[in-house]
Amino acid sequence: MNGRLPAPRQVVVIGGGIAGLATAWYAAQDGHRVTLIDRGGPEGDRCSLGNAGMIVPSHIVPLASPGSVKTGLLSLANPRSPLRVPARFDPEYLRWCWQFLRAATASRVALAAPALRDLALLSRRGYEALTLLWPQGVPLAEHGLLMLARTAHGLREELDAAKLAQRLGLAVEILDRDAAAALEPHLDLTIVGAVRYPLDAHSVPQRVVATLIAGLAEAGVELHWNTEVTGLRRSGSRVAAVATAAGEIGGEEFVIAGGMWSAALARDIDLPLPLLSGKGYSFTLAAPRVLPHAGAILTEARIAVTPMGKALRFAGTMELCGLDRSIDQRRVAAMIDAIPRYYPQFGPADFAGITPWAGLRPCSPDGLPYIGRTRRADNLLVATGHAMMGFSLAPATGRVISDLIAGREPPVPINLYSPDRYG
Ligand SMILES: Cc1cc2nc3c(=O)[nH]c(=O)nc-3n(C[C@H](O)[C@H](O)[C@H](O)COP(=O)(O)OP(=O)(O)OC[C@H]3O[C@@H](n4cnc5c(N)ncnc54)[C@H](O)[C@@H]3O)c2cc1C
Repeated sequence: MNGRLPAPRQVVVIGGGIAGLATAWYAAQDGHRVTLIDRGGPEGDRCSLGNAGMIVPSHIVPLASPGSVKTGLLSLANPRSPLRVPARFDPEYLRWCWQFLRAATASRVALAAPALRDLALLSRRGYEALTLLWPQGVPLAEHGLLMLARTAHGLREELDAAKLAQRLGLAVEILDRDAAAALEPHLDLTIVGAVRYPLDAHSVPQRVVATLIAGLAEAGVELHWNTEVTGLRRSGSRVAAVATAAGEIGGEEFVIAGGMWSAALARDIDLPLPLLSGKGYSFTLAAPRVLPHAGAILTEARIAVTPMGKALRFAGTMELCGLDRSIDQRRVAAMIDAIPRYYPQFGPADFAGITPWAGLRPCSPDGLPYIGRTRRADNLLVATGHAMMGFSLAPATGRVISDLIAGREPPVPINLYSPDRYG
């Protein structure tokens, strides 16, 4: 898959979310002996299961952007705001916010956008390859993504983002209301216009996760479920083993892919890996009254809408918090209130009895993932911090990490993703 195979090594991946699974898969394809460790079971809940399943080369603006600062500040007074930055006086949280503010500039976005484009396009190709291998388990709905705008202001913001995408060579279609409606003949749409990204796609995260787990088992990867890594043991400049309640697990290369919990693991080797949770919710209608053809984002409400077979998932909201997965019903209600403003066929009764799911997106202050080796130990790599793009960017993350393990040059520039950038 990746050209000439490197000398086989013992690779230990910590974390069985989409980032860890994809990393283990690519490393196994390189012929390494791979061990994957997760504190939960194979079906245990994690951020990678309930997300919106969008694979989005169009998402080239990181969370840390001037627009997010504005929305975040407004949210201080509004607990129902799609992006919520609560006032908290915890030093770690305040440091993260300060780092976020420093990164959220137009010039940083201009630097990050082409890098994210390259990583996302690599990942899109990765999903195509996984789909060829497992068409049932990695269904790739290549119907594009519709950014639906209900207000002139929302549309203007989308058009600005579309211009940036166009400048970077991505395919973009600007649609008036009727042109957007023609693409979704079964849906009534209350919108003023839309932007369509034809290259975007979507899948079903829980199927992708289950398929990767089955694929890893078949490829001979040693899977340690219900096993928590409690620490990393050093030997000189290297990590020698990870500690678990069942004893140590040794290896030659170690990858931290623990999502929001990665910061605690990194602390063990004095690697500062600032992360805050971006808590979000989703709920899935098993039999919706109408089913869109393409995935969509209700832009002003920041709600993602993804058809998954016959089901329809709505996902959204981002609340910066710690490791707290409790559900704030006010924020779920705000999502339910917003949906009929775009899709008038839906009403509150459609959502009666839903079971909201909560996930913690691992968010770095500059909105960019941590992918790469760290100077803190010769044989330690990091694959986390993807915020709202972790599902989309997983195959590229796995590919880049396995290239680094093999000593190959990754196919895209990765300097912006260095795990040492806050060290
Ligand atoms: C509402 C919502 C919608 C989203 N929609 C999208 C979308 O459409 N497209 C997209 O690209 N992204 C989306 N995301 C973001 C995406 O879900 C995340 O970026 C991604 O799932 C993160 O994957 P991960 O593997 O890094 O973390 P996780 O899935 O959280 O996995 C981390 C794993 O590490 C394990 N772990 C941690 N510490 C230890 C330890 N010490 N020992 C053993 N195991 C450990 C945990 O048990 C867990 O299983 C969405 C997120 C949310 C919340």
